[in-house]
Amino acid sequence: MRRVALYDSMTRSVRVLAPIQPPRVGLFVCGLTPYDEAHIGHARTFVFFDVVARALTRWGYRVFSVQNVTNLDDKIIARAGELDEDPLLLAERHFLAWLFLAGRLGIRSVNYYPRATDYVPEILAQIQALVDRGYAYPSQGSVYYEIAKFPRYGALSGQRTEALRPGARVEVDDAKRAPGDFVIWKAATPGEPSWESPWGPGRPGWHIEDTAITLRLFGPRYDLHGGGLDLIFPHHESEIALAEAATGESPLVNYWMHGGLLNLAGEKMSKSLGNVYSLRTAIDEFGPMVLRFYYLNAHYRSPLEFVRAESLPEAREAYARLVLPSDRIAEILDRDGAERPGAEGPPELLERAEDLVERLDTTLADDFNSREAIALLFGWTRELTEHLDRFPSYSGDTLAALQEPYDWASETLGLFERSSTGRAGAWAQVVPIAIAARARARARGDFAEADRIRDELSAVGVHLEDDAAGTRWDFSGPK
Ligand SMILES: [Zn+2]
Repeated sequence: MRRVALYDSMTRSVRVLAPIQPPRVGLFVCGLTPYDEAHIGHARTFVFFDVVARALTRWGYRVFSVQNVTNLDDKIIARAGELDEDPLLLAERHFLAWLFLAGRLGIRSVNYYPRATDYVPEILAQIQALVDRGYAYPSQGSVYYEIAKFPRYGALSGQRTEALRPGARVEVDDAKRAPGDFVIWKAATPGEPSWESPWGPGRPGWHIEDTAITLRLFGPRYDLHGGGLDLIFPHHESEIALAEAATGESPLVNYWMHGGLLNLAGEKMSKSLGNVYSLRTAIDEFGPMVLRFYYLNAHYRSPLEFVRAESLPEAREAYARLVLPSDRIAEILDRDGAERPGAEGPPELLERAEDLVERLDTTLADDFNSREAIALLFGWTRELTEHLDRFPSYSGDTLAALQEPYDWASETLGLFERSSTGRAGAWAQVVPIAIAARARARARGDFAEADRIRDELSAVGVHLEDDAAGTRWDFSGPK
């Protein structure tokens, strides 16, 4: 197992990962509250934690990755009311839509997506334990967590109660003993989904679902908890209070990882401002690789300032430059096979490819610095482009060795995926059709047409070469 350092929000320091039961790593990431279509801000966090899980797996850890689905809350109930739809079905519909987009984005490391409402028995057992231990109290059909009973409340965020937040309005609620107390069981409102409980019919509060799920799946302590920075308070703070008070064990989580948010040029993305950019539209317009590249070409803890007219067009241009030599190599290997004869590459170049893979691992293992890893890949692309221009006749073995840093990026960052809709895949499908049309033109003696097809392919970067075996082609960009 490779040594991995990561920034832990609890200690506010970079620490070496030491799993509780190596090589196993339990990773829990707060998932979606699917009350509407996902927008491009949502996917940033999930792409990042996909990279965390992919990289840890590459380095010999065995990751069990869980993302909960908050499939019932106030927002879902409100939206379902507007649409006259069942709240649980509305949430499932939006969650499945997200899952489809996550698949397109190459997010494939999550082992399990538990729905909150599938854990009501666990939630009720945990609430009972909190009541029995004196940390929670029933009131007016609901149950509240009393933060005064948990002195460590505030350790993660440095805040003790919502009331201390600048500008926060303290709502007087006579059901609570103190304004900072939060609801863990909500008394039923007519028309909403509800479950029976010792305190009357109701539904779970927000924070408790995560801990009921992780207590069940991971036990009282686990390795990594991730989420967006906006979840530190009150959500993650409350998770700690709920779990540690219920089990008496501490710490709930050994490492807290928080990702920066995506800001919309100074303003929040919201329906009311009319500036929501849906994830589906972004993927349709730019392709999943450009989005992944855009997210990962920033340090995960930095905010990303999204500018609609610039951010993704710029990312598309940069990504196209980054993948050009990799696409060229992949096309040659697709066409000629790995056994392709040719010149062996200079030993120092092959050695640099090998060293680079090690440097990429080292860089990513230093607090998952994908931005720095991408900078190293750009350096390799510059170097390789020159070599391929001068020595287009490398053997299959050499080309495969030169491709290795990009294979690394495909495995860990999920970049360099060549889909049938990508340029490389499209060439491989379309060029043989053009070659066949040219062969038919020559067969009937129409050499002007045959030359026209060859020249037009050449103008877009596809170069044909006729030999005894037929026509070979190569993509090396427009000349
Ligand atoms: Zn959560």
